[in-house]
Amino acid sequence: MKLPTCWSCSYGFKWSELLIVMDGRKQCPHCSSKQYFTAHSIFKSSVVAVPLVFIPFILKLLNTSWTMMIFIAFLLLMIYIVCLPFLYEFTNEQQHFFK
Ligand SMILES: [Zn+2]
Repeated sequence: MKLPTCWSCSYGFKWSELLIVMDGRKQCPHCSSKQYFTAHSIFKSSVVAVPLVFIPFILKLLNTSWTMMIFIAFLLLMIYIVCLPFLYEFTNEQQHFFK
């Protein structure tokens, strides 16, 4: 897994710079060009989130207690947020996942 680079100047983004991305775009701190998510990176980050939706149901089937379920859900959410910047790819124009 590697972090994305700027489409314009190939600046390698730091993980901490990618934790907060507003409105699906980011500005390069090196050359100030706008970075938009590629449709592929939107797809990847969505696909990774799909199994997270089913985890509470699986835990319920396994008779896990509510406190344990909340703990596991919180833990998985944190792992997802930590891994998310590695799934990003940037391009120079806004791409829409659904056209
Ligand atoms: Zn740049």
